[in-house]
Amino acid sequence: GLPNVGKSTLFNAITHAGAEAANYPFCTIEPNVGVVAVPDERLDKLAALYQSKKITPAVIEFVDIAGLVKGASRGEGLGNKFLSHIREVDAIVHVVRCFEDENVTHVESSVDPVRDIETINLELILADIEAVNKRADRIKNAARGGSDKNAAQEFAFLQKLLAHLESECPANSYPLTDEEMPFMENLFLLSYKPVIYCANISEADMGENEENISLVQKVKEYAGKHNAGVIVICAKTEEELSQMEETDREMFLEEFGLKESGLDKLIKASYSLLGLISYLTAGEKETRAWTITRGTKAPQAAGKIHTDFEKGFIRAEVVEWETLLECGGLTGAREKGKVRYEGKEYVMKDGDVVLFRFNV
Ligand code: GDP
Repeated sequence: GLPNVGKSTLFNAITHAGAEAANYPFCTIEPNVGVVAVPDERLDKLAALYQSKKITPAVIEFVDIAGLVKGASRGEGLGNKFLSHIREVDAIVHVVRCFEDENVTHVESSVDPVRDIETINLELILADIEAVNKRADRIKNAARGGSDKNAAQEFAFLQKLLAHLESECPANSYPLTDEEMPFMENLFLLSYKPVIYCANISEADMGENEENISLVQKVKEYAGKHNAGVIVICAKTEEELSQMEETDREMFLEEFGLKESGLDKLIKASYSLLGLISYLTAGEKETRAWTITRGTKAPQAAGKIHTDFEKGFIRAEVVEWETLLECGGLTGAREKGKVRYEGKEYVMKDGDVVLFRFNV
């Protein structure tokens, strides 16, 4: 996002909340990089059932990136350095200012979230145009020679992509074909990354129905058109919340009629935006969430625990987490015929509780 929209406030809230969550591992790798647990009530419930000694949640790494200004793609502000930081992430949380506060300067001196979004996105697109042009230059000769079919195909794709970017559309809205996919992935474009817009509202709007906050509605409209998600948050309040005791925090949220903090929503949404899901293992020693990408099959999922599990995979014994709780444990679930025996082609689902059988 632009400077002064609440990025650092939000980052501090996220990492502080992580640091406070007692039985979750947490670390700040660098001042601007934090690893936080993905909130997961399923783990707490399963751990209670099994009286687990340890809970290990899924984690996600957040990076606080300095504000971008108009002209960054030409090196303004932190410019290229900033852009190279964005290049390294898997998804973008784009913070936009939806709060009025005369004490906090806005770089454009008025609050207009959609204009701000477009300013940033245009910089990303401009940087991408440069990257695409560079790539096109590099393969130009091979593509024109006629003997390198692959280069010719890529070159044709780059020209189409350029036209798309030049009409100020982000790479992630380009109608990509299967054949073009490897070319696109190879480019590591900024505007190809999935985005969540984080609408940072004022304290006064906390607890207000989102439909009544006109700036939020504008962000939602924009995001809807661009296939992106929106999370509404008050960064300042979240920062205060992250410093409260758990019981106080719960009381505070209840007062506003909220079930969970904005941060929890944001962390969960980021996880899902990355295309990630969790399968679970539960037992006396440990209850744990294992991160896999959506669509992962059972043997590869097993490989997350140990390579032997994948190599010697025989089958997965799977129960849906809620069913397992209802049955009071695996024995009960077996008796009721609720445990499924799945083979190598089974595609894992979010919330599957699994026991892998293997033989090496
Ligand atoms: P960054 O430049 O985007 O990282 O912005 P900061 O997080 O440093 O915030 C800039 C200023 O805006 C700070 O003075 C914050 O206290 C203030 N700020 C951030 N979020 C909010 C909010 O939700 N409401 C209000 N009133 N001020 C906020």
